[in-house]
Amino acid sequence: MKPIDYDLDIVVIGGGASGLAAAVAAGRELPNNTAIAVFDAQPRCGKKLLATGNGRCNLTNRAASPSDYHSDDSHAVSQVFSGVNVEDTLAFFESLGLVFREEDEGRIYPSCGQASAVLDLLRLELLRLGIAEMCGCRVDQICRQDGVFRMNSPKGSIRAKSVIVACGGAAAPQLGGVDWGYALMKSMGHSVTGLHPSLSPLPATSPHLGSLKGIRAHARATLCDGRGEIASDIGEVQFGDKALSGIVIFQLSFAAANVRSDDLCVELDMLPERSGDDIVALLTKRRAILPHLTLENYLTGVFNKRIGMCLLKEAGLTPLSRSVAELTDADIRRIAKIVKCWRFPVNGKASWSNAQVTSGGVRLSEMDGMTMQSRFCPGLFAAGEMLNADGRCGGFNLQWAWSTGILAGRSAAAYIKGKADRTAL
Ligand SMILES: Cc1cc2nc3c(=O)[nH]c(=O)nc-3n(C[C@H](O)[C@H](O)[C@H](O)COP(=O)(O)OP(=O)(O)OC[C@H]3O[C@@H](n4cnc5c(N)ncnc54)[C@H](O)[C@@H]3O)c2cc1C
Repeated sequence: MKPIDYDLDIVVIGGGASGLAAAVAAGRELPNNTAIAVFDAQPRCGKKLLATGNGRCNLTNRAASPSDYHSDDSHAVSQVFSGVNVEDTLAFFESLGLVFREEDEGRIYPSCGQASAVLDLLRLELLRLGIAEMCGCRVDQICRQDGVFRMNSPKGSIRAKSVIVACGGAAAPQLGGVDWGYALMKSMGHSVTGLHPSLSPLPATSPHLGSLKGIRAHARATLCDGRGEIASDIGEVQFGDKALSGIVIFQLSFAAANVRSDDLCVELDMLPERSGDDIVALLTKRRAILPHLTLENYLTGVFNKRIGMCLLKEAGLTPLSRSVAELTDADIRRIAKIVKCWRFPVNGKASWSNAQVTSGGVRLSEMDGMTMQSRFCPGLFAAGEMLNADGRCGGFNLQWAWSTGILAGRSAAAYIKGKADRTAL
């Protein structure tokens, strides 16, 4: 049998949001001489955490609740939230020294505006608790023999009484997103659902996208398939070369990742606060007061000029060198129709590199939602994005990482204490 290089009480595999929260939560419950270590494959823990919220870390959402998540087991999601909810999470971070600021739609950020502060405070607490960080160290095998776990890593073999698997998901590989955690959990008897990128731009086809690249506009975006509307949201849409992006589109991609339909399309309502009749009246008035203009500038002042020109082209009103005075009532109704419903067929799959989160993962029904312990293997816990629960954009996915991480950490500590008590008897 291989010699043991690290003999530990608790091993946390993955030093991201959920793994760091788990390590802190476990360390706080146990005496200082308990051997706990966090192993991370990256040269530093928390690489993805540093990129969250555009470097500001939208660490939770005041309104986060179980209904904000897609999962195979909504009861387990509810159990997780009854164990550690948003208030409990804020209290956890407050105890680390973090001060918050609440922004639109309940989004909560560190008041210093730095994701690095969240990471620093977690790591300082690890230091205080005597928890080791083993970076550049991928754990690539796990098994359970005689009631203890054995694992392999490039820095040596590991033995531990309890393991918390917190390897994250496959989204954003450039920030350390990997699918290794799923293989570890499968080797311990767990099953994994299909995996799909979520909270990402939606690849779309339109002859206009190239000329609109980089432009942002306020719109209502509605995701539809052959059967009708799937999801809708209002806010800023960003046009990309071959995709639609922006938070509103991320929210739709959350629905798209879970619908898995082949005939998806996004419909943009470019003036969501006005009815179709209002727009016809507005356009008719513009024809009366701007007859000297060419179509090129007919919508300038209503929309970004390039968007205006694309809307007219989509309505078939080329060439744009024609005079506004030539527009017929039927032309105006056609423009109004496009303004209210500008269709972009979704073509192809969202990419992992542009996704913020993984939809799918280790089946939650195989975990105990009160403890995050495996239903198959005592002493094995899992947390974070690698579990099959993904949330909307706005702090929901980090909240899931914190809730499940804190629960897993506390439960692993209780498991270790229980083992110690049994040994003492
Ligand atoms: C650009 C971007 C912005 C985001 N912004 C937000 C936001 O503002 N708010 C929000 O709620 N969510 C946000 N998210 C989502 C959020 O970051 C993730 O859901 C969250 O980080 C998941 O935490 P985790 O601990 O499960 O995984 P991760 O944070 O990905 O951590 C997993 C860790 O495990 C390590 N690892 C994996 N396998 C192994 C192994 N076998 N051995 C050792 N180490 C291993 C990895 O190196 C990684 O460090 C964002 C995501 C991205 C990509």
